[in-house]
Amino acid sequence: MNDIKLAVLGSEGVGKSALIVRFLTRRFIGEYASSSECIYRKRMSFDGKQMNLELYDPCSQPCEGQFSLNEQMHWAEGFVVVYDISDRSSFITAQAIVHLIRELHLGVTKRDADSVVFLVGNKQDLCHVREVSREEGQRLAAEFKCQFYELSAAEHYQEVALMFSKVVRNTSLN
Ligand code: GDP
Repeated sequence: MNDIKLAVLGSEGVGKSALIVRFLTRRFIGEYASSSECIYRKRMSFDGKQMNLELYDPCSQPCEGQFSLNEQMHWAEGFVVVYDISDRSSFITAQAIVHLIRELHLGVTKRDADSVVFLVGNKQDLCHVREVSREEGQRLAAEFKCQFYELSAAEHYQEVALMFSKVVRNTSLN
């Protein structure tokens, strides 16, 4: 059985827990107590293969199992870096995280950013108060040569499921 370890990273409030919970349960939970849990585990079937999926969601409050940034970079095999399209500062943070992944993970493992790093602009339903254009997201992804998605945990279950399925598939193949 394959074990897949994914870290979902980004500033507090960008919707990391909402995306994970949406993917795992199909439900959008408006206010999820994300401080209580750090690693979500689920046994899933992908392409006919059974996998143990572990999703790491750094909690805003110190909690059991909390990793340092360095540990996250070594523990994870795939990364979903999330920003909120209505919050420019979260995009700046995503940029910094993507650079850290390049230095601390890809530099050591020699994996391709293209297959194991996904940049995600969340809260697309808030495009009327957008602070980060789709083109800026695409440019950052192109510069880093990683995959890019813009979606909404609140409104786009299919896109969220597709994005996570791709990360899982790519990570398991890489
Ligand atoms: P985290 O700190 O990154 O884990 O963020 P949360 O998952 O706790 O979400 C922070 C807030 O953003 C909550 O109030 C969520 O309901 C809200 N949120 C998450 N995703 C979306 C989305 O796609 N659209 C909108 N409008 N709000 C969202």
